[in-house]
Amino acid sequence: MAAQIIDGREIAKQIRSSLAQQIQARLEQGKPRPGLAVVLVGDNPASQLYVKMKQQACQEVGVYSEEHRLPASISQSKLLQVIDQLNADPKIHGILVQLPLPDGLDEEEVIVRIRPEKDVDGFHPINVGRLAIGAKAYVPCTPAGVIKMLDSINCDPAGKKAVVVGRSNIVGKPVAQLLLQRNATVTICHSRTKDLMDECRQADILVVAVGRPQMVKADWVKPGAVVIDVGINKAGKKTVGDVDFDQVKDVAGWITPVPGGVGPMTIAMLLANTVSAAE
Ligand code: NDP
Repeated sequence: MAAQIIDGREIAKQIRSSLAQQIQARLEQGKPRPGLAVVLVGDNPASQLYVKMKQQACQEVGVYSEEHRLPASISQSKLLQVIDQLNADPKIHGILVQLPLPDGLDEEEVIVRIRPEKDVDGFHPINVGRLAIGAKAYVPCTPAGVIKMLDSINCDPAGKKAVVVGRSNIVGKPVAQLLLQRNATVTICHSRTKDLMDECRQADILVVAVGRPQMVKADWVKPGAVVIDVGINKAGKKTVGDVDFDQVKDVAGWITPVPGGVGPMTIAMLLANTVSAAE
């Protein structure tokens, strides 16, 4: 039987609509509009596109947004000054620095400079640490979106075997933390994992965040499993995930498409984090 599709566009739309209502209610109570500042350094076309999409989404739900476009030649100290100004600006509740930064700039120092309570990307070590100890934290947007998708199909990870392929700081590790918080038994796989296919085949919930087009095939997936494909890869003119959707949809119970899966959720969760920051 073909898997049911987890429609990220639709879930993200519902989240945006509920955020728009929440913002409207805030304004009616005389509270300030949530504000997001996006800092874009250099002219990486993919980053420009992401920033544009984020700003459109802000407009749609009523989040005030500012874009700070800075040249790739900017010095580290000037960039830190911009962060300091945004940290001090009461209109701005969330600060997002679009990564990767151009060569020569120290990403870690920039992220650490953002006030943790304005770190809507959840990359500041304070938020990373808080997530690790199970305290209230800004959770990185893509992992938060993955969990929302599981919630949307009433998939309770408790007691299930979850396998996360990929251990990046922005996706793999925080997804694993969140699944652990939800009481899944979590295995994290990476490029040195032996017999990756066998590990994946054990999963009731399989989250793949690798960046290898269509790597996960039908025989890697347990029948009925929930498969969340985080990957975004260009294959000619097409965008494909890390999962071979056409094959795996005949084995999985649930599957996210690419595009239209995790991608729209990431932006919706950024807006949600910005609204929480304002709250
Ligand atoms: P990274 O490159 O930072 O991490 C990739 C991870 O995959 C690493 O842990 C790496 O292992 C592992 N890996 C690489 N090759 C293999 C392999 N052959 N077998 C097993 N593991 C492997 O990527 P990101 O986490 O940033 O992103 C992953 C994918 O998700 C990309 O396609 C990216 O575009 C997409 N993405 C999508 C988002 C969305 O909104 N939908 C947001 C963010 C990312 P090791 O650590 O050993 O090197």
